[in-house]
Amino acid sequence: MPSKVKITFCGGVDEVGGNQVFFEDSGYNVKLFLDFGINFVKYANHFDPHEEPRSPSELTDLYLLPKENKLSIKNLYSKFYIFDHEKQNYIQKKNKCKDLTDPPTNIDGILISHPHRDHYYGISMVNRNIPIYTGVVTQRIIKAYSEASKSVMSNFYEGLLWKLFRTRNVIEIKGLRIFPVHVDHSIPAAYGFIIESSEGIVVYSGDFRMHGPLSNMTIDLIDKTNQLKEEHNSKHPDDSKKSKKADLKINTLICEGTQINKGAIESEEMVENELRRLMANNPFDYFLVKYNRLDWDRFRSFNNIAKEFDWNYIIAEKDAYFYYLLNNKAMYDTMKDPNILENDNIYILLRKYDRYPWQTKIRNIFNEKGKNHRLIHYDDLNNFDKNFFLFITIMSHRLKNNLPSHLNGAFISSDIDPYSEEYFDNSNTIIHKLKKIGIPAYRIHASGHAKPHDIINFVLDINPLRLIPIHTDNQEFFKKLFRNRNINVKIPEKYMPIDLTGEL
Ligand SMILES: [Zn+2]
Ligand SMILES: [Zn+2]
Repeated sequence: MPSKVKITFCGGVDEVGGNQVFFEDSGYNVKLFLDFGINFVKYANHFDPHEEPRSPSELTDLYLLPKENKLSIKNLYSKFYIFDHEKQNYIQKKNKCKDLTDPPTNIDGILISHPHRDHYYGISMVNRNIPIYTGVVTQRIIKAYSEASKSVMSNFYEGLLWKLFRTRNVIEIKGLRIFPVHVDHSIPAAYGFIIESSEGIVVYSGDFRMHGPLSNMTIDLIDKTNQLKEEHNSKHPDDSKKSKKADLKINTLICEGTQINKGAIESEEMVENELRRLMANNPFDYFLVKYNRLDWDRFRSFNNIAKEFDWNYIIAEKDAYFYYLLNNKAMYDTMKDPNILENDNIYILLRKYDRYPWQTKIRNIFNEKGKNHRLIHYDDLNNFDKNFFLFITIMSHRLKNNLPSHLNGAFISSDIDPYSEEYFDNSNTIIHKLKKIGIPAYRIHASGHAKPHDIINFVLDINPLRLIPIHTDNQEFFKKLFRNRNINVKIPEKYMPIDLTGEL
């Protein structure tokens, strides 16, 4: 019997990031995407960091976003909501498309697992009739990030049909049930999905780790999967007899494998301890620090140390605005710390010009709260009367010229997984520039992704009939790694549908 369920991978195959998983279940007449990201390594082969695509076809022609003529779908991309920033400004575009309705489409939804752009970049371009399912906090982070970014096509979310969920909610699409379950990752609000398909249970891991402060959340995904499997088996005892197995297996696990072939024993706690060791014998007056600005846990680790040693912490106003939005709408306790307004050791480094609405907003908020002494300019760095951490993303001329030459500094690179979440990894450029002015570099780091032993345990705990590796450039390695473990590893190829039959 032909399978009612098939999966076609358009992105995230044999590459880290850019997941685009097309899922079809003819039993429910449902077509949907699991994540709709872009692979930033491939993207960077075609676009400079400051260059912006202005139409979806620029990206689909390069196979950076899904090509609808290769899938049985129509009107995946929006007709009216594509924002060309060279033709008009944001407000003009917003007013122009306000009452326009995109043509009908046969896509029933796009599920976004977490707010890293390699998983959601393409949603700004999709047909506005397609519901975007994502977590409440996931959407807040996506929106806050876009609000603090430049107004271009990839940040234009007007008219999107958001459908928000929390862990323990059930998504129902034409009767097909999908369970989102939180997982631990290097950004808050990350989820895996459990789909009760016509051919049994299909699990999509999203990106996850087992060594972060909230690693129990990843265990919840495993537990929920096994609970649903037991429920399914007790409801359909015939199925398990048919499969001649003691219990009916999970049909398929689509599992991330960023670090499947090598790992380190590390944790966020370890990052904090390493920093503490450095501070204990510290001959430096300040540290320049670099990590992924969305990595809230890393920011907290650094600021914890700053507070412990009575140092100040300086961030850019863009980050201050983004963190302020998250603090303000925090749903997890971990998202309230650091607190941009309340933590008086945090200083905001202002840009020279006040150009964007978000700049005015964050400046006004600090003024209204009587905290404007914590708004500083570049030339204040020279007579700053306390030791400080300064968060940087690039080494600009202005920063270099304003670093206090009478003080001694060092650089700490703490980026999460270069090339996995964002394409712009410039740590080596920074290290090279700093070497010329006598600033040494350190590396203190813990990854956002599960290690080989964690992935093996995760897979064995779920124990699927079929394992499909994704978000890895070592997919063949999965086959070798699981050769003795009775797990059938299916290597995906782009645009080659995989039938998820209930038996192998
Ligand atoms: Zn990713
Ligand atoms: Zn991620």
